[in-house]
Amino acid sequence: MVMTVTTDLDEVRRDVRSWVAENWSHGITVREWWRRLADAALSMPSWPVPYGRGYSSAAARVVTEELAAAGTVAPPQGAVGTTLAGPTLLEHGRPDQLERFLPPLLRGEEAWCQLFSEPGAGSDLAGLGARATRDGDEWIVNGQKVWNSSADLAQRAILLARTDPDVPKHAGITYFLLDMDQRGVEARPLRQMNGEAQFCEVFLTDARVAADAVLGGLGEGWRVAATTLRHERATTASRPAAGLVFVLSGTKAGQLDRPVADVLSVRQERRTFSGNAVPARKLIELARQRGVSAHPNLRQRLVGYYMLTEVNRLNQQRARVAAAAGQPVAGSANLTKLSISRICHTSREVAFAILGADTMLDGDDAPFGGDLQRVGLASFGTSIGGGTDEIQRNLLGERILGLPREPSTDRDVPYRQLAVGTTRAASPRSPS
Ligand SMILES: Cc1cc2nc3c(=O)[nH]c(=O)nc-3n(C[C@H](O)[C@H](O)[C@H](O)COP(=O)(O)OP(=O)(O)OC[C@H]3O[C@@H](n4cnc5c(N)ncnc54)[C@H](O)[C@@H]3O)c2cc1C
Repeated sequence: MVMTVTTDLDEVRRDVRSWVAENWSHGITVREWWRRLADAALSMPSWPVPYGRGYSSAAARVVTEELAAAGTVAPPQGAVGTTLAGPTLLEHGRPDQLERFLPPLLRGEEAWCQLFSEPGAGSDLAGLGARATRDGDEWIVNGQKVWNSSADLAQRAILLARTDPDVPKHAGITYFLLDMDQRGVEARPLRQMNGEAQFCEVFLTDARVAADAVLGGLGEGWRVAATTLRHERATTASRPAAGLVFVLSGTKAGQLDRPVADVLSVRQERRTFSGNAVPARKLIELARQRGVSAHPNLRQRLVGYYMLTEVNRLNQQRARVAAAAGQPVAGSANLTKLSISRICHTSREVAFAILGADTMLDGDDAPFGGDLQRVGLASFGTSIGGGTDEIQRNLLGERILGLPREPSTDRDVPYRQLAVGTTRAASPRSPS
């Protein structure tokens, strides 16, 4: 059943509620549920028709609320597919590219990863050295990427590679849509200090990408990447949908053909604490449980943490209302990202203060099986991934406060001539 597009929030709520009543069932597989959502254009309702319903963010939130209220499996995320690849495709893709890449993403059949960072190019992303050379109707890519979230589970990648080393570093980059399932691509998971392995290093050795899988034009990679990075900041700053059960997309994750009832039952065994921060109210409850909530110093820290999370919540709400009224707050995604970094770090410090010496325990010996230690150690990633805190401050300083730009000596120099900083390692890979 495909419903008409509407912006009346009450009507959206009624329509989605009746659609869920007709379509959600514990007897179907994850694949079938996601197919139904995609057919009804409800996987990403804020995307334009025909991929979504063209809903406002407020109407899309109503859809999420209704799905969560019914206790459904969340629409597929495709790892970074719906947050980064999809929005970038919608802004820069040709109609044939949208038609080829978006439907499998919206049905949860394909997951995406982001192949941007390299060992010598993170904050200085424009200094990247992975090289793509033309070979008939294809490009051949060689180089190494790193910190690529879920790359081992992805079928597709958004990839930045250098196609012209004879122009300044920002100008010679092209944005590709790479097929990960090929011999020239090897994704090796990297073990993090909290024991998990959520990202990989990826080796590209004569990997092939079709010429028609260039996004936004030859040499236009930096402009297209700016769209992805804008969405990445906004994603980090956005609230996760409460109440929905998230399931990994794509054929490699092995979830597609499981009945939704199975997936939901695993949820019951979920960890007590997860993510990169613990909500303030949960920490207050924990302090009470452990009999330390009367400690004056800890009370100060708890209330400080609570205030940080509240200020962030209200700032986000203010930014959303302003954006909906067509007056977006400049720099709000950078500010929220910085604020979330601070929240994650403070959450770690307060949680460890509550645990006291038990913080040093691990595994079954630790309270909650070590969940709080895992969350605490993951907290550092928030201030690095998607652009570090220092880079957010640079952007705010330069673009919002109007401070002088950082000095740059390499902006107009052809990439091939760069022999300093992070590009030193990349240059020898470029053919001379
Ligand atoms: C959890 C997580 C997930 C990630 N997922 C992905 C992914 O899916 N795909 C992907 O491509 N990458 C991913 N990354 C990589 C991430 O984008 C980079 O780590 C990040 O851009 C920083 O680059 P770097 O690690 O090379 O640090 P560097 O750039 O080497 O920075 C080192 C330090 O120097 C500081 N610094 C650097 N330049 C400046 C400057 N101009 N002014 C002030 N300070 C500066 C930085 O702030 C930092 O403290 C992920 C990272 C994390 C932590």
